[in-house]
Amino acid sequence: MTAATPEPEDLLEQIRVRIYERFASDGRAPGVGELAMQSNVDEAEIVHALGALHRERSLVLDERGDIELAHPFDGRDFGFSVKGGDTLWWGGCAWDSFAIPHLVPGASPALVATTCPGCDTPHAWNVSASSPPPGPQVAHFLVPMAHVWDDVTHACDNQRIFCDERCVAAWLARTGNTKGTILSLPTLWRLASRWYEGRLGYGYRPRQPEVAADYFREVGLIGAFWGTAV
Ligand SMILES: [Zn+2]
Ligand SMILES: [Zn+2]
Repeated sequence: MTAATPEPEDLLEQIRVRIYERFASDGRAPGVGELAMQSNVDEAEIVHALGALHRERSLVLDERGDIELAHPFDGRDFGFSVKGGDTLWWGGCAWDSFAIPHLVPGASPALVATTCPGCDTPHAWNVSASSPPPGPQVAHFLVPMAHVWDDVTHACDNQRIFCDERCVAAWLARTGNTKGTILSLPTLWRLASRWYEGRLGYGYRPRQPEVAADYFREVGLIGAFWGTAV
């Protein structure tokens, strides 16, 4: 191979980083045509690479093959918006929204906004990388960590922030869901703070389950929901 033709795994990592860079700077995914031009390969090769990145869980494609999730970034509304100085992101879930100000240089503080799924009350916080935002609201995560990747968009869609535990209970009763776990805003903020560390750069590898459990333990999340022993 010549220097202009990267090894397939390098190409995959280049494409992954370009997608993340574009999401970080502009709040949206680059198109297949743009990626093909940047990488000097044809569009079919990009489509193939996106499929490989989807299989290795570096991103999630929707049914049409568009990028739906590149955690913590998203191509559609998952209930949260995140507004930085000059960029507006779909914030993904509660976890992802709180992660963006930590991950993207210059994005702290960002205005994170959502509505309570229990009663539609709007909520917003200035989320910074230095300290958790004040607030009595609670996050509710429906799907235990061991099952997140059974259906990751369902899991993300159900990591939301509510007014309080009463609103969580009302929403659970209305939707017929079983309670997952409740987090205070400071705990959510700690969970989000370093979870995606390194993801915008080359050589990032998603955390394996044992390493993830160590991280959850460090930020104070103990129990079966998190896969950490009580
Ligand atoms: Zn509410
Ligand atoms: Zn999410």
